[in-house]
Amino acid sequence: MSGTTTFTMIKPDAVKANNIGPILKMINEAGFRIKAMKYTQLTKEKAGGFYAVHAERPFYGELVDFMSSGPIVAAILEKENAVEDFRKLIGATNPAEAAEGTIRKAYATSIGENAVHGSDSDENAEIEGSYFFGMTERF
Ligand code: ATP
Ligand code: MG
Repeated sequence: MSGTTTFTMIKPDAVKANNIGPILKMINEAGFRIKAMKYTQLTKEKAGGFYAVHAERPFYGELVDFMSSGPIVAAILEKENAVEDFRKLIGATNPAEAAEGTIRKAYATSIGENAVHGSDSDENAEIEGSYFFGMTERF
């Protein structure tokens, strides 16, 4: 059975463009509840660790520079079937391929600067949530 928790970040491009509010509205209207939330900025080390699975990819350096370039919003979200439903809500990695009504269709500018992160499995949702929040910060 699939879990009820996922993890998201509103990435530096969307924070810079003043889109925290509209993105949170889309997240709430899709039925997700916010269980923990933090406005913060990643160091290069922390961004590199978060995306370590991509360390061998050609875009890794660019990705780490971008993700540490400005403030982000990290959050733990709750809903039935959270991981899959949230991936549907954010849309394809490349905004040119993102479906109408998705967050990336509305707010992403490129494949690199694509407004939001969403966990890709229940296991990663747990790992990623723990990267930002202790148990006492969750509700
Ligand atoms: P995320 O993990 O941030 O939710 P995703 O799961 O849709 O995104 P991944 O394949 O996990 O996509 O890639 C992680 C991030 O790396 C992408 O969101 C994007 O910012 C960046 N990225 C992926 N592919 C490319 C690429 N070809 N060129 C530049 N950046 C890329
Ligand atoms: Mg991913």
